[in-house]
Amino acid sequence: MIRLCVVSQSATPASFSAITEPTSAGEIESIIKIAAADGRAICPVGGCRAIGRGINVRQGTTALTLGRLNQVIDYPHEDMTITAGAGITIAELQRVLAEKGQRLPVDVPQADEATLGGAIATNQNGPRRYGCGTLRDYVIGITAVDGRGATFSGGGRVVKNVAGYDFCKLLIGSRGALAVITQVTLKVLPQPAGSLLLVAAIEDHEQLGETLRQLAESALTPVTIDFVSGSEWEDVSAAGRSRCYGSLFLGFEGTADEITWLQQQACQHAGIKAARFKPLAPEHDQYEMWSRLCEFPAEETPALTFVANIVPSGVPEFLTTVMQHDPSASLVARAGSGVIFVRCSQPASDAVSLHAKTLLPAARKQHGNCLVYAAPPDLKLTPLAAYGAPHASTNVYQSIKQTFDPQGILSPGVWNYD
Ligand SMILES: Cc1cc2nc3c(=O)[nH]c(=O)nc-3n(C[C@H](O)[C@H](O)[C@H](O)COP(=O)(O)OP(=O)(O)OC[C@H]3O[C@@H](n4cnc5c(N)ncnc54)[C@H](O)[C@@H]3O)c2cc1C
Repeated sequence: MIRLCVVSQSATPASFSAITEPTSAGEIESIIKIAAADGRAICPVGGCRAIGRGINVRQGTTALTLGRLNQVIDYPHEDMTITAGAGITIAELQRVLAEKGQRLPVDVPQADEATLGGAIATNQNGPRRYGCGTLRDYVIGITAVDGRGATFSGGGRVVKNVAGYDFCKLLIGSRGALAVITQVTLKVLPQPAGSLLLVAAIEDHEQLGETLRQLAESALTPVTIDFVSGSEWEDVSAAGRSRCYGSLFLGFEGTADEITWLQQQACQHAGIKAARFKPLAPEHDQYEMWSRLCEFPAEETPALTFVANIVPSGVPEFLTTVMQHDPSASLVARAGSGVIFVRCSQPASDAVSLHAKTLLPAARKQHGNCLVYAAPPDLKLTPLAAYGAPHASTNVYQSIKQTFDPQGILSPGVWNYD
């Protein structure tokens, strides 16, 4: 018997008409089988960090929460793998790993509430993406329940597994529309002995372009190449004055010797002549700054935040377009990876048209896409704003969706342009 609780408005986005809180994968199977028979829409919910704030839910949907599937199932730390329920929070996962001097080197904002399943379903990553990669590089096994209520697994508990079709990658970024992830096995890494954040003042987009080009050609191996600009970053302006074009951060991790060498000589010897990198000003703590770079996109504000994914070489030109059309916007660019978060200063309605007329075409010009990342609660978004420009694989996606969820009950409307 499915136990449905009536929704208390404050708890979750208004769109949910009921909540179910299963305690096992078996219960999830029965819930979905009954929902498929009734044609009842189901949305898997983790920490509800993104839902209702960039990820819209169709009216009358039932929230299927994963919060009770939050246990560590297996952690043979000498193998550097861990298996956990999809409802475990990222903070709890990292706490367990830290006890053995290990970590999942993927930054997730609001980690106290964001869950592993939610981070995977939204392909969440942060400042360390450049050097440490994304969840695609760490998810080695996954178990999920599809829209028919059937459980399937992909990958395994060993780092090198050749078990057929790579379901792990298919569910990364699927936003709850293909299956409900119940359990995940991750490859994890040792915590670095030390880390270092350097910063340089950037005067204009030419200097930014030249510095990124020299970095790409240098022997340096930063884990982070983040560029920030706008009123929300004025305090970190390395030039100590408010209106410089922006600041470029280089983040390094490694042994104490490596960090000391990097601190003393990295930029001089590695041919980075276009910018002068130096340690953060004393008033800025590097761990706090790394956290700010991670949390910026997800901060709760009434403004609209867009995310653009473009070729790294296109970053300076795209940023110039943003600054021309919204000079008061604040932004953080994962400049080494071509991922840019833009918090518009304009009211949401104007920002949506700026997206359609300017930001999306500018991202398309750089072989990429641009969509809403964070929006005021329950702002109704057009498919173009929510998902960006439809791309060639949209049709392939629709047929995969048909296979995994023939009744279309899982997160209906997600990735749908109709
Ligand atoms: C478009 C977008 C907007 C975002 N907006 C914000 C924001 O405004 N504020 C913020 O703090 N962070 C935001 N984030 C980042 C968010 O913090 C991370 O994505 C976080 O990892 C979400 O985890 P969660 O558990 O809170 O997921 P939720 O918000 O609960 O769910 C996020 C998505 O993942 C799906 N999902 C959740 N659990 C599962 C599961 N077990 N199986 C299958 N699907 C699942 C949901 O159906 C939903 O589509 C956003 C991310 C994206 C991609």
